[in-house]
Amino acid sequence: MKSPSRSELFRELPSVDEVLRRPELSALAAEHGAGTVGDAARTVLARVRSEIASGLLDSDSLPLALNGLSGAVEKQLRLEIAYSLRLVINATGVILHTNLGRAPLAQPALKHVAETAAGYSNLEFQVEAGERGKRDLHVQRLLRRLLDDVARDYEISTIVVNNNAAAVLLALNTLAEHCEVIVSRGELVEIGGSFRIPDVMAKSGAILREVGTTNRTRIADYDNAIDERTRLLLRVHRSNFEISGFTEQTSIGELSELARRRGLPLMEDLGSGALVNLENFGIRGEPNVLDSLRAGVDIVTYSGDKLLGGPQAGFISGRADLVSRMRSNSLFRALRVDKLAYAALEATLLAYVKRDYDTIPALKMMRLSEERIGKRAAEIVKRGNSARLQIEIMAGESVIGGGAAPSSVLPTRLLALTSKALSSDELAARLRKFDPPIIARVEEGRVLLDLRTVFPEQDELVLSALTRIAE
Ligand SMILES: *Cc1c(COP(=O)(O)O)cnc(C)c1O
Repeated sequence: MKSPSRSELFRELPSVDEVLRRPELSALAAEHGAGTVGDAARTVLARVRSEIASGLLDSDSLPLALNGLSGAVEKQLRLEIAYSLRLVINATGVILHTNLGRAPLAQPALKHVAETAAGYSNLEFQVEAGERGKRDLHVQRLLRRLLDDVARDYEISTIVVNNNAAAVLLALNTLAEHCEVIVSRGELVEIGGSFRIPDVMAKSGAILREVGTTNRTRIADYDNAIDERTRLLLRVHRSNFEISGFTEQTSIGELSELARRRGLPLMEDLGSGALVNLENFGIRGEPNVLDSLRAGVDIVTYSGDKLLGGPQAGFISGRADLVSRMRSNSLFRALRVDKLAYAALEATLLAYVKRDYDTIPALKMMRLSEERIGKRAAEIVKRGNSARLQIEIMAGESVIGGGAAPSSVLPTRLLALTSKALSSDELAARLRKFDPPIIARVEEGRVLLDLRTVFPEQDELVLSALTRIAE
């Protein structure tokens, strides 16, 4: 018997309408809309058509493919309607992992976002007076309480923009457009994700005046560079690296004394905006916002989703007269944040006012003791260790991440996985296939899981993933 031609095979394909009339798919259409199911059916039919054209499907294999058509359409639909942005389990031990969304939000922040953003809010409305208001008042009030114990001769004010990069851009543009900003060559940093001080400076319209050398900059270098074109002295926190050896960096105190003497403002790009003294959390060398203001810095810029533990945002805190100029800059309108961010920030800042630090997940993770992490790890070893998948506990280090406190590591207890059947890369890939995906570190042929960044309620999910892999 002559086998059917390709055009005869094409004729066996049902139309999209015929596919949609199948009972199992009409139920799906009722749930997700006929349009979406129709799109999925079209995609699947097009795939079958091209497989016939390429000879991948012939008269023997086509009936099987047609039998599985409804299943294939449903699978395609699930793929198309699934969110692309999804929850993952961070087992890397990097607390502020930029690729994994930096700081997880506090529960009160989520609640405040849900309650205010689902309806209308007084974002820019004074309820009592019945008049237009300013959106930044919602965080200003709390930041005043957090920052105002700095004894100084002027008022401190804060505005919020989209991120710290935007904060630096706005501040430089407002204070020094077409004029010079003096920065040490040792602080012309790149933070990653294409934030480079010289580039942001150029975009702001300010002119970079470099002083000193990569490893040494003295106060006299700044002093000698000041002339009638100078509008600002800038200090940039070396968030993600350290210079050691023959080095010299001027202190903030010296810089602020110079700025005052020469009648110039001093700005510091802190990067990570710690609002508490992190030494109490075992993290050294990370300056906080209050320290900078106390030392005489006029304008401090910092991120909302790094050490502060809130949503993505950039803060500009400092002298009220300078901040008010930034608020009137038309760039501020372009860089401002929305009601979701304000709600999340207000709730996060309120936790600081209450000194309720454990409410903020990033701060809580920093404070977790090695013993607590070790106990959870031991439970997973006890229930998950097997001949197929060996799980051992070993000493290791968690890091802060997010370009903060590069030299600060927190001692932890790691779960080290090895399998005879799978390489470490294959093992890590299997962990990423779970729902939610589990993201691990691979080091020296071992897959390492750090429970510091795994929420305790996710331990069971990690355990069941490990058990499944061992099966
Ligand atoms: C992280 C960082 C930035 C960028 O902050 P984003 O909030 O990510 O825009 C800028 N400067 C320094 C010093 C930083 O550490």
